[in-house]
Amino acid sequence: MKKLEFLLADESATVTMGNHIAQALLHHNKPLSQQAFVAYLNGDLGAGKTTLTRGVVRGLGHQGNVKSPTYTLVEPYELSPYRVYHFDLYRLADPEELEFMGIRDYFNGQCVCFIEWPEKGNGLLASADVIINMAYQDEQRVITLHACTELGESVLAKLAS
Ligand code: ADP
Ligand code: MG
Repeated sequence: MKKLEFLLADESATVTMGNHIAQALLHHNKPLSQQAFVAYLNGDLGAGKTTLTRGVVRGLGHQGNVKSPTYTLVEPYELSPYRVYHFDLYRLADPEELEFMGIRDYFNGQCVCFIEWPEKGNGLLASADVIINMAYQDEQRVITLHACTELGESVLAKLAS
């Protein structure tokens, strides 16, 4: 399974999609062991990247608010079994900032990373298991998920089942 596409009718459909991704991560046939799962989120402002991530973070067990890490660059969630890191690199001025924050350490071990505006971290991010594109379709949104690794493919297969 290399590519999946869905039409998301409204905000709640986007949150539900995020929850489905979370369930696929929790239940696909290759549990993350020491491996990080990395998703890049592409799409214009307002396309729904943060809304989708909110669904993922809640689906992985977080019960509180999910705020956009626009100024902090990353918001960590210490969940079980997976730690989750939500990055928003929109305001990143210099990729070196990522070096200063020890970006590589975020991609070690059993964690799930969702990264908005990954192109701003060009060259310093772990490569993506899944690349997610979100686009406006009138008042709705279209989400396209591309698997880039075997892990990504197995998560997409679970998502499709
Ligand atoms: P981004 O992080 O891509 O900039 P946000 O998730 O912060 O976008 O904002 C998306 C906006 O679009 C929110 O106002 C949300 O209510 C709305 N939205 C999210 N999903 C949908 C959808 N499927 N259809 C219509 N509106 C949506
Ligand atoms: Mg956002």
